[in-house]
Amino acid sequence: MKIRVMGDNVLRQKATEIQTFDEKLKNLSKEMIDLMHNSEGIGLAAPQEGLTIRMLVTDISPVEKGYSEMAFVNPVILETWGESILEEGCLSIPGIREEVERPEEILIKYQTIDGEEKTEKFSGWMARVLQHEVDHLEGVLFVDYLSPVKQKLVMNQYSNA
Ligand SMILES: [Zn+2]
Repeated sequence: MKIRVMGDNVLRQKATEIQTFDEKLKNLSKEMIDLMHNSEGIGLAAPQEGLTIRMLVTDISPVEKGYSEMAFVNPVILETWGESILEEGCLSIPGIREEVERPEEILIKYQTIDGEEKTEKFSGWMARVLQHEVDHLEGVLFVDYLSPVKQKLVMNQYSNA
């Protein structure tokens, strides 16, 4: 498994809802967590592995205490509050880090890897990573939020890739 890089069409597709919660899905989430850890990322969405399904994994322990690895299936952000500016990067856009403004706090509905439904509030880095990864499921990349000038600089860097 390797991480797809910007310019790959799979990163621009809308991912489909997951219906089957089986051993295969569990193994896939473990694989994604391994890939995230090996790549020193704090979040990874299935499309970054070339799979257009609505699953993402996070582990923000390198930047915030009290968290470990988590898998989110069919996540939907229900509500957001406040705003914060943080520097983001993306395993699919290596070498680029830019400040992005997003809501500070979110209410998210999702299913666990076993299909259990949950609704939880997150703030800080967890809210940030989840918004970034949920965007991946819609084919949206964090560079889409940058100014046109900065977007052009990023595109130029990747157009020859
Ligand atoms: Zn990303």
